[in-house]
Amino acid sequence: MSYVLAADIGGTNIRAAIVDAEGSILTEQRIEATLSEPGLSAEEMLQRIVNIVQPMLNHNIKAVGLGFPGFFRGTSGILAASPNLPEIKEFALADALRTAINIPVAAQNDALCAAIGEHKFGAGKDKQNLFHITLGTGVGGGLILNHAPWTGESGMAMEFGHLHVAQERLCGCGLHGCLETYASATAVCNRYYEVTNEQHNAAHIYQLACDGNNIAKDAITQAGYYLGIAIAEAIKLLDLHTVTISGGLTGAWPILHPIMLETLNKRLIPPLRNRVEILPTSLGDQAGLLGAAAIAQNQ
Ligand SMILES: [Zn+2]
Repeated sequence: MSYVLAADIGGTNIRAAIVDAEGSILTEQRIEATLSEPGLSAEEMLQRIVNIVQPMLNHNIKAVGLGFPGFFRGTSGILAASPNLPEIKEFALADALRTAINIPVAAQNDALCAAIGEHKFGAGKDKQNLFHITLGTGVGGGLILNHAPWTGESGMAMEFGHLHVAQERLCGCGLHGCLETYASATAVCNRYYEVTNEQHNAAHIYQLACDGNNIAKDAITQAGYYLGIAIAEAIKLLDLHTVTISGGLTGAWPILHPIMLETLNKRLIPPLRNRVEILPTSLGDQAGLLGAAAIAQNQ
């Protein structure tokens, strides 16, 4: 049996796990650490990753896979840019880490890793084509075409969270009206706060909605509505039949899914209607981690 070490690098914490070839997690660590520090150099960032990964290595581990919030050049492991790390550009992250720890390393965009995980082990298992959406503090997307990840020509494909769905809200990317500002967990919290002046996380807002709070229900419904609009635009381009969604906001699936599907079908051209299934992840919060394991297994 061959094992790999998978790491999912998030905004505020890093998860690292030893995973077998079937996608079973043997041990997992969640480390409170951030790499998203403006001004952090590539060398400093690399050292932080080494400090986390190295203590978990042993002679049974054949490779390391990283899911990282940034744009990668194809499958080269070269980090072209990262929105949270403006100083770092065109950094050969996988090669540098391989040199530092002396075993093979693969690195890929975090949302694409989630798509790879869902395709290999989850709700999109063995689908020829799959569009995966991550719904957390932001909104991300990853695409599998003919069983292979599609990175785009410069590594920036499927910036789904920045599709234009409205006019008003200002996004972190500098544009107005991006999906992420209408449909992320953060957007749900903001919408609820704007009406009630009360700050809650998305899970709590879902609980309030279940208890009959219409403002909470509306905040989640709005997210589902805008997701439906954006998925319809993606389907018009791609003509795919399977969409999977992971991330914290999938906890609100009973409210999110019906409005999303209804809006999607209303917005599609008639021949495309009622062909698309939208499925919640079957991997809980492990889609990204298992995708990082899958790219490591391919080393
Ligand atoms: Zn944006």
